[in-house]
Amino acid sequence: ACSKLDAPEEVKEKLHKEIGRFKNTIGSQAENGVIRTYIETILEMPWNKRAEDNTDINYAKEVLEADHYGLEQVKERILEFLAVRTLTQKGESPILCLVGPPGTGKTSIAKSLARSLKKPFVRISLGGVRDEAEIRGHRKTYVGAMPGRIANGIRTAGVKNPVLLLDEIDKVSTDYKGDTFSALLEVLDSEQNSKFRDHYLEVPLDLSEVTFITTANTLQTIPRPLLDRMEIIEISSYTENEKLHIAIEHLIPKQLEKHGITNEQLSFSKKAIWKIAHNYTKEAGVRQLEREIGNICRKAAKELLTTEKEKITVTDRNLHKFLGKEKYSYQMANAAPEVGIVRGLAWTSVGGDTLQIEVNVMPGKGEIMLTGQLGDVMKESARAGISYIRSVSKKYAIAEDFFEKHDIHVHIPEGAVPKDGPSAGITMATAMLSAVTGKKVRADLAMTGEITLRGRVLPIGGLKEKLLAAKNARIQTVLIPKENTADVEELSSEITKGLEIIPVETMEEVLKKALTR
Ligand code: ADP
Repeated sequence: ACSKLDAPEEVKEKLHKEIGRFKNTIGSQAENGVIRTYIETILEMPWNKRAEDNTDINYAKEVLEADHYGLEQVKERILEFLAVRTLTQKGESPILCLVGPPGTGKTSIAKSLARSLKKPFVRISLGGVRDEAEIRGHRKTYVGAMPGRIANGIRTAGVKNPVLLLDEIDKVSTDYKGDTFSALLEVLDSEQNSKFRDHYLEVPLDLSEVTFITTANTLQTIPRPLLDRMEIIEISSYTENEKLHIAIEHLIPKQLEKHGITNEQLSFSKKAIWKIAHNYTKEAGVRQLEREIGNICRKAAKELLTTEKEKITVTDRNLHKFLGKEKYSYQMANAAPEVGIVRGLAWTSVGGDTLQIEVNVMPGKGEIMLTGQLGDVMKESARAGISYIRSVSKKYAIAEDFFEKHDIHVHIPEGAVPKDGPSAGITMATAMLSAVTGKKVRADLAMTGEITLRGRVLPIGGLKEKLLAAKNARIQTVLIPKENTADVEELSSEITKGLEIIPVETMEEVLKKALTR
C-alpha cells in the first residue's frame, strides 16, 4: 500500500514506519486497533489528488444565476473573485466571508461557488467550537482520537483542493482558550497552511489549494487578525417582494420536487405566499418560509393520496387548513399619540425590529431606573439622554428642581437586543422629554439615531433592516440621522416607497417632528 500511495515522501515514510509497528507489536488489541485506524486514515487522505479547476467564468455566471434570485452585488463580487483567481492562477486568493442574517442564502451561495468551479464541497460547522482539538485533532495517544474537522473535511472531499465552507465562524467560542483562533488563523493563512499541522495525522497537510469560504451572522465577535484575512461580502435581509420571488422561483419548485408533487397537483396563490411570509414567519431570510412551504407539501401529498382530489390550490383563505393559526402579527403602530412612548428601530443579528421605549415619571428623589431589554450600551444612551434633557430644561419650561423631586423609569417592554449598540439614543431622549413635559408623541412615527450630550444626532448602521421593520409595523414617518442620507439613496425604492424618511441633525429637530403640539 505504501509504495502505491500517491503522497509526499514524508507521508510515505511515516506510513511505512507505522505499518512496521503494526506488524511487530505484540501489544494489546486496543493498541493495534489504534495503529490500524491511523494507517487507514492516512491511506484515505487525498494527499496529491486534485479536482480540475473550472475556469469558465460564463459557466460560473450561469450557475449563480440559476441558483439564486436577486443578490446581484453578491454574485458580482463572486464572479470578480473567480476572474482574479483565473488570471493570477494562484490558489492563494483572498478568503471570502459571507455575512448576513440566517436564511439569506449564504450556505447556498457557497454551494453554488463549488458547483461553478466543479469541485467537491464540504461544509464544516464551527458553531460552538471551543477547543483547539476540534480544529486540529487529538494526538493519537488520546483515547478515541480523531483528525480535526479540517483534516476530516479534506478526507470527505476526497481531493486536496475542494471548496471548504467554514460555517458560522463568528460562533467559535473564545471562552477559555485563544488556541482555537490561532488554529483557524493557521488554516486561513496562505503562508502557513501548506504545512498545516493536525495533531492526529502528525504529518503536515497541505491546505494551500483549498478554496476557503466562511459565513457569519455578525462581524462583531470575529477577532481582528482573522477579519484581516478575509474579504467581507454582506448579505442583507430580503424585502417582501424578494421573498415572494424567491418562493415562486426557487423554494416552491424545490419543495415540490422533494415531495414528489407536480405543479399541476399543487399550486400557491401569490396572496397565500405573501401571507405565509408575513404571518407565519418572522425572519430576515427565507429559511422558515421554505420550511412552511415544505409543511404544506407534506399535507398536500397526504391529501392527494387519501382523497379523490387531483389538484390543490393554496390560497390566503384556506392557508389555515395547512398551517394552523397565524403565528405572528406585527406590533403595529399605536393607534393614538401617547405620552412617554416612542418607537425605536433596532438592528439585530437576525434582521430588523421595532422596539418600543416607555418612560414613566413619578415623584421621588432623582433616581433613574432602567428595566427590560437593556444592554450596557443602551444604558449609557439613556444617561446621555437625561443629561441632554436637563441641559435644555429651561427651554421646555421644566421646573428647576424637577429632577430632584422625581424618579424617571425607562423600560423596553419587548424585542431583541440590538446588535449595533447605540442607536436608541434619540428614541430614549424623546420618550423622556415627552414623559417629563407631558407632551404626546406621534404614534405613526419611528426613529433611530445616537445622541451626544449636546443633542447632536449621530449616524447608525443597518438602515435597510430598520426601514423594513418600520414598514412591517405600518409606520408612516421615520427619522434618521442626517449622515445616513447617502445610505437611503442606495436602497431600492421598494423599501423606501410609502415611508416618509426625514433626515435630522439635532435633537431639536427630532422633538419638533415627534412631539404633537
Ligand atoms: P444561510 O446559510 O444564509 O443561513 P441558506 O443558504 O441555508 O441560508 O438558505 C436557506 C434556504 O433559502 C436555502 O434553501 C436557499 O437555497 C434558499 N435561498 C436563500 N436565498 C435565496 C435566493 N436569493 N434565491 C434562491 N434561494 C434562496
